[in-house]
Amino acid sequence: MARRQEQESARREISEVGPGILRMELPIRMPGLGHVNMYALLDDEGAAVVDPGMPGPATWKAIVDRLRQADLKVKDVHTVVVTHSHPDHFGGAARLAREAGAKVVAHRSFRFGPLGPGADDAAEVSVDDLAAQRDGDGGGDAASDEGARKAQSNAMRKWSGTTPWGGKSPRPPLRVRLKWRAARFFGGAFVPEINKLVSHGDVLRLAGREFFVMHTPGHTEDHICLHDPEEKIFLAGDHVLPSITPHISGLTHAPDPLDSFFESLDLVAATPDVKQVLPAHGHPFSDLKERAEAIKRHHDERLEKVKGIGRALGPSTVEAFSQKLFHPRSWGSMAESETFAHLEHLLHAGKAERSSGPDGVFLYETG
Ligand SMILES: [Zn+2]
Ligand SMILES: [Zn+2]
Repeated sequence: MARRQEQESARREISEVGPGILRMELPIRMPGLGHVNMYALLDDEGAAVVDPGMPGPATWKAIVDRLRQADLKVKDVHTVVVTHSHPDHFGGAARLAREAGAKVVAHRSFRFGPLGPGADDAAEVSVDDLAAQRDGDGGGDAASDEGARKAQSNAMRKWSGTTPWGGKSPRPPLRVRLKWRAARFFGGAFVPEINKLVSHGDVLRLAGREFFVMHTPGHTEDHICLHDPEEKIFLAGDHVLPSITPHISGLTHAPDPLDSFFESLDLVAATPDVKQVLPAHGHPFSDLKERAEAIKRHHDERLEKVKGIGRALGPSTVEAFSQKLFHPRSWGSMAESETFAHLEHLLHAGKAERSSGPDGVFLYETG
């Protein structure tokens, strides 16, 4: 499979993608992704930036470099908008707040998971897309397998106990545990303090124009998109990406995260008159409605498959469902989390039943 555009390495060149809007690619090393787009929205006072990449010096260097190409200095950044609580989107925000005095804007439910109990999932792309990337890389080489394993451990937060569906939660490698312990010790200094909490329908003044905040829970519960009706521009974050499907976790506080995601897809598909979609990964594209519907279709097909598996297996665990749904190389906690999200959606829609086995493990039955 060809390399997806979201996997391309960050380029140094910046590009104008709308009136007063520059796309700046920042490097990231995450399974399934090669760069994150920071957008700079220019106005008389300087610039607001959306999603300033990962924490750490490599990203910071890239931010300074990209701003310089636009004749901007760090201190010209007066606002940082964070589309959602994943580290590759808010990573540079704390330092921009410190060094430029920038105001940090995010949805009022913003919460970064890994440092808190019962936190949700920070994985970015779906299990299928991770598998596709490994195929694209030549399949099963040690480095990408390691990447996939890392994504799985990152995906699973309830490390010491069991998952909500009663499966065993694998302990992440010591290296990862030490990293999080260190992050906790330093007070999570890379997590920004949000000084402007926004809600659905709020208006932000960016690039000298009005942008409407759209709350689009699904990929995370705190995800927002920004719509500029004047120039017909839509900043999509990770909600709608050009060629990959965002990971939808079963490990959130929402009773039916897939349903939230569908509602958010319907919401953006109904946004009239969008000409330019600016995603957080990959290139700008134009057909928001078509892409949102394609992502929904992918999940509808997955739901049909899950129902079929249930009919063949009878009452079964999440693990059993996930092992029928995915290729063995993808088995593990992240595949189970996605399977759980789909089974819970069927349950809430009255298309599946759930019972608990003798050991408390959930059993699902589809009609
Ligand atoms: Zn994300
Ligand atoms: Zn992302």
